[in-house]
Amino acid sequence: MAQNDDQFKRVVSHAKEYGYIFGSSEIYDGLSAVYDYAQNGVELKKNIREYWWKSMVQMHQNIVGIDAAILMHPTTWKASGHVDAFNDPLIDNKDSKKRYRADVLIEDYCEKLNQKAQKEITKARKRFGDSFDEQQFVETNPRVIKYKTQQKEILERMARSLDNEDLADVKALIEELGIADPVSGSKNWTDVKQFNLMFGTKLGASAESATDLYLRPETAQGIFVNFLNVQKTGRMKIPFGIAQTGKAFRNEIVARQFIFRMREFEQMEMQFFVRPGEELKWYEYWKETRLKWHLSLGMGAENYRFHDHEKLAHYANAAADIEFNFPFGFKELEGIHSRTDFDLKAHEQHSGKKLQFFDPELGENYVPYVVETSIGLDRMFLAVLSHSLEEEQLDDGNSRTVLKLPAVLAPVKAAVLPLVKKDGLPDLAKSIIEDLQWDFNVLYDEKDAVGRRYRRQDALGTPFCITIDHQSLEDQTVTIRHRDSMQQERVAISEVSKIIGQAVAVKTWLDK
Ligand code: ATP
Repeated sequence: MAQNDDQFKRVVSHAKEYGYIFGSSEIYDGLSAVYDYAQNGVELKKNIREYWWKSMVQMHQNIVGIDAAILMHPTTWKASGHVDAFNDPLIDNKDSKKRYRADVLIEDYCEKLNQKAQKEITKARKRFGDSFDEQQFVETNPRVIKYKTQQKEILERMARSLDNEDLADVKALIEELGIADPVSGSKNWTDVKQFNLMFGTKLGASAESATDLYLRPETAQGIFVNFLNVQKTGRMKIPFGIAQTGKAFRNEIVARQFIFRMREFEQMEMQFFVRPGEELKWYEYWKETRLKWHLSLGMGAENYRFHDHEKLAHYANAAADIEFNFPFGFKELEGIHSRTDFDLKAHEQHSGKKLQFFDPELGENYVPYVVETSIGLDRMFLAVLSHSLEEEQLDDGNSRTVLKLPAVLAPVKAAVLPLVKKDGLPDLAKSIIEDLQWDFNVLYDEKDAVGRRYRRQDALGTPFCITIDHQSLEDQTVTIRHRDSMQQERVAISEVSKIIGQAVAVKTWLDK
């Protein structure tokens, strides 16, 4: 765990040192849980967004995109349930004065039970070797059964209490389990209270005439209110999807994990409209399809897992998270929700407008059901950054810091380096840059010995370094150095663009 804490600290400081992420308004000491993307961060973020957009919109004939406004008519949030129900249960520790989400404290407790069960399983696997039958062990081992049953009972009780708004029982549960403040160890808790996460703002010039608005807490509602506009103008037939990426705002109670939980963040969401009764089939389809998208980036299948929800949101009849193994453990990266017809029906009721589809095959009108995929762009950024950052031991006894970003996402695709600053090498390097920059984000670097320049690009995550030497002037060849293997090869200048293009193409990665 200490090692993982260190890794997380390294990621945060690397992000700053290499121009990925800065704290917001740092010269004024920053603003809690708000961050700015710096010159390289903005490129990485853009590339992740594009990787998502291409796979969801461009590669699906029946999915289109929109870009709805952040400000929406306030009734939207009444209809969606956010005014009444977008709350987190919060609890304060009286001694440390720290504030927590009560449900997260309980979930963390359950995760510890889960880890205990996993330990038993790992021990048994070692003991029994090849003959180990995991399923049988899990079903019969008294300790594993105890941990799993406890975990299930606790989560079910919490879900029930939260559904019934029985906050006293949530507190009772925390006390019965003996959960202590992770910072101070104190068990001196306040009552559990509900806290609405929406940011309010005002529209209009004078105080009297101003209308209360909210900054959208999710991008999804911009899609729902445009459902019929898109369906009609795009002549879309069910099943079809509407995708959107954009900012969302939540006044998070606990926001301590860098860009994992921010107050202003970006979502990439897709709402897929289907026939009533077919939603669970499509829910399974999107669970699988989204996991494949993650796996295409090559960050290790063992770093992802599904977490099926016990407690369903008021709008859902099935929900799962794709969790990623962040430096602080497995946490939600993306949600896949079967949202039923809740949102469209609620908007019909509140607006008085019909939001239905005439299905020519069935010969009837209905309110479609919706399956949503919703991923946080910033969380994806953190997943990629933290997984890629390595302190690598080299054969010669040295070590190097390398950011093994998937090449398709890397902010800078290649650095062009003249071996020396004279003899016409910089001119040739610049002419190569002029050619490459039409297609790729590339940079020029002539300062320091070439070895140091390689290290700089390794730490930045640049997949290729192209070195120009005296031979280049004679035979129009250059050296290409590959970031991960550090292998170098001599290639014709005319081949460089093709080599980079193939390595960074979305198709190369997605179409595996
Ligand atoms: P959590 O349980 O972590 O608060 P959530 O279940 O409320 O997340 P959703 O409403 O399902 O999240 O939002 C979809 C996605 O948006 C999440 O999977 C996550 O990647 C991202 N997201 C949600 N809240 C934040 C936040 N405060 N900062 C960054 N990303 C967020």
